[in-house]
Amino acid sequence: MTREIFNPDMLILARESRSVTQSELAKRLSVSQANISKIEAGMLGISDEQIKHIAEILDYQESFFFQPSPRHGFASNCLYHRKRQSVPVYELRRIIAEFRIFGLEVANLLRAVEIETENRFHRMDMVEYESPELIAQLLRRSWGLPLGPIQNLTAAIENAGGIIIRCSFGTRKIDAMSQWAADMPPLIFVNSEAPGDRLRYSLAHEIGHIIMHQIPTNDMEREADKFAAELLMPKVEIAPYLSNVSIAKLASLKPHWKVSMAALLMRAGDLKKVTQRQKEYLWTEMGKRGYRLKEPIDIAIEQPRTIYDMVETHLNQLGYSVAELSNLMHSKEDSFRLRYLDEKVSHLRAVN
Ligand SMILES: [Zn+2]
Repeated sequence: MTREIFNPDMLILARESRSVTQSELAKRLSVSQANISKIEAGMLGISDEQIKHIAEILDYQESFFFQPSPRHGFASNCLYHRKRQSVPVYELRRIIAEFRIFGLEVANLLRAVEIETENRFHRMDMVEYESPELIAQLLRRSWGLPLGPIQNLTAAIENAGGIIIRCSFGTRKIDAMSQWAADMPPLIFVNSEAPGDRLRYSLAHEIGHIIMHQIPTNDMEREADKFAAELLMPKVEIAPYLSNVSIAKLASLKPHWKVSMAALLMRAGDLKKVTQRQKEYLWTEMGKRGYRLKEPIDIAIEQPRTIYDMVETHLNQLGYSVAELSNLMHSKEDSFRLRYLDEKVSHLRAVN
């Protein structure tokens, strides 16, 4: 660890992850905002005393600010999230900052632990393959997924070396983010506030981005949605189920395919199993029943485990104490416990 070089990028990341503005931080440090701005731009030095104080204010270890910046690579522009427009900028920045910090934590864990998996992620871009649907079919084949519904998409992603963490985003407007940076496994950050069916859809959508999109394109959201629909509900397999669609039928298909009634209705529309008029009628009916806010029939939340296994390996096999592992991750012990050792892990153990 290079303790001696303060990294201004890490100050920005820490500040944004706590939704603290430059002027708020300046006020608490009793300096001018221009001062903080210049420190963040690398134009002005910072004293040890100030670093100590900032670490306290932002609740990070002092060593946090001496880490190298998270890897950018070509994936730096590829933090994808839906409904970006309606999310306040500071909230989006906070979640992106948290996601980048998560990437650093994973990189720190990977120094001592290797992930061995049966399958792997490989890029298939739209220039080479004709459609997102074809890419979804090829992925299903290469991951050896059986026909029909995918029973546990989280496990399928982790079996291919992807790392998922569920985290409360503090807003329902962003479902997930993903990034596949150089020399790193694909990372997916999902909102723990989403219900189980939406979580699975978000994961499928993010796999689409990871595989198909190395740079942002105008069509990428639509492509990721098409990919997700085909991955979760392959046309040839689901089409026979989608005749005579009614609200009752959508409700009966939901637990089998583990996707929302809304997604099933959209799929029925895309596959021309309902007319536009029928689709609109059913959509309105679902709205009247309040299903657009909350659908009936809960789909179990899929729990990731790789990241927790990596933490446990450090604690149980590599002999790290919680304090030492928090230090390795440059995290305060409380934040570390909250993120990696809270009930999500005990829940995971109970499932096993
Ligand atoms: Zn997206």
